[in-house]
Amino acid sequence: MEATRILLDAADIPTHWYNVAADLPTPLAPPLGPDGHPATPEQMGVIFPPAILEQEMSTERWIAIPQEVREIYRLWRPSPLCRAVRLEQALGTPAKIFFKYEGVSPAGSHKPNSAVPQAFYNKQAGITRLTTETGAGQWGSSIAFAGQMFGLEVRIYMVKVSYDQKPYRRLMMQTWGGEVFASPSPHTETGRRLLAENPDNPGSLGIAISEAVEEAAGRADTNYTLGSVLNHVVLHQSIIGLEAKKQLDKVGLYPDVVIGPCGGGSSFAGIAFPFLADKAAGDKRAATLRCVAVEPTSCPTLTKGQYAYDFGDASGFTPLMKMYTLGHDFMPPGIHAGGLRYHGDSPLVSNLLHAGLIEAAAVPQLATFEAGVQFARAEGIIPAPESCHAIRQAIDEALACKATGEAKTILFNLTGHGHFDMSSYERYFSGKLEDFDYPAEAVATSLAHLPKVG
Ligand SMILES: *Cc1c(COP(=O)(O)O)cnc(C)c1O
Repeated sequence: MEATRILLDAADIPTHWYNVAADLPTPLAPPLGPDGHPATPEQMGVIFPPAILEQEMSTERWIAIPQEVREIYRLWRPSPLCRAVRLEQALGTPAKIFFKYEGVSPAGSHKPNSAVPQAFYNKQAGITRLTTETGAGQWGSSIAFAGQMFGLEVRIYMVKVSYDQKPYRRLMMQTWGGEVFASPSPHTETGRRLLAENPDNPGSLGIAISEAVEEAAGRADTNYTLGSVLNHVVLHQSIIGLEAKKQLDKVGLYPDVVIGPCGGGSSFAGIAFPFLADKAAGDKRAATLRCVAVEPTSCPTLTKGQYAYDFGDASGFTPLMKMYTLGHDFMPPGIHAGGLRYHGDSPLVSNLLHAGLIEAAAVPQLATFEAGVQFARAEGIIPAPESCHAIRQAIDEALACKATGEAKTILFNLTGHGHFDMSSYERYFSGKLEDFDYPAEAVATSLAHLPKVG
């Protein structure tokens, strides 16, 4: 029998992260401060430690992973690369479908790949407390876990609807020692102002970011952490693709298409960018490689947004970043259950999409859950709703291969398991979910509020 799980040893955990900023066809537009000039390291140093800032701006191709971080990665890395043979059979496709399974981490997703180094660099800089925001709870639980590994206090502002609907994620954070508040909260100016306007404000990721940044900016012992979007997060996640490359090497294969779900872009970048490194280096195997970032049609940042400077949060606390955006006051529809709700996207992912080096696709949510269920029934693993977006695209690519008879190698990022997202599956099974194409007029309205830049 052919092996369907391709495993590496602890010694194979990469020693360096890959930084795609070294290989961009056009330089990255710098983040801008409130005065419209490039944000200075001093401004950003209020909420980030020096090592993170350095990574945020670095154009070095390879950046060493600290030994302390590799030690903790060993708790679950290298993660398995699996061939989805039973899914291939169910589809009747000649394609080979591989998935990199990041659900084996303590928090159940790829997010600890960046939470651990972020906690490490903050500890190294003498910081004792971290703040962050969390939506579904994936990032919050990852940073609670990572903070615990380095003895840091962690405070998490959790979007109120999720706080109420996802008690088990909250309890995971508390189990790892994190302190969790429903956002908007009475603990910050932003929260107090919004609660005065509307005590029943359901919260949003943008509001929670504002609260976490406000607290970190106001205390010298406290820094802010972000689970996606920023360059250093993208850098840390490159461990996924670097391992996957070694694993495919072991079976003598190279992907024709690499697929990842895309919210803020970190896990997509994590699996795809190490392959783009080959492309940049002129590796013939990568000449026709396609990389596809997959998002929901109800939050179509890459496929319907504008490539422009915008704030990272709802209240305009963060520097302006050049990225694909739906406007910082974008509110995803309540009917949407599949995650990936952020209004913007990683500036690195945005840069590469704008340059035509990667592709984006949007998938409707019913077909997305349908793909997740089909995957679970074939392969056993119940995927996170976010991951189902990549599965949908992978299945569609495999079905296209069936039509043409091509035996392509398809690689996708199975970013997490869905064990704490079963209420979204429940809504799908009971027919409570609908497809929703975010209307072009609504995109235009929220884009009209983009900040004016130079
Ligand atoms: C957070 C999350 C995502 C989306 O975030 P990215 O930064 O785009 O990777 C995808 N899958 C899972 C399981 C997540 O927790």
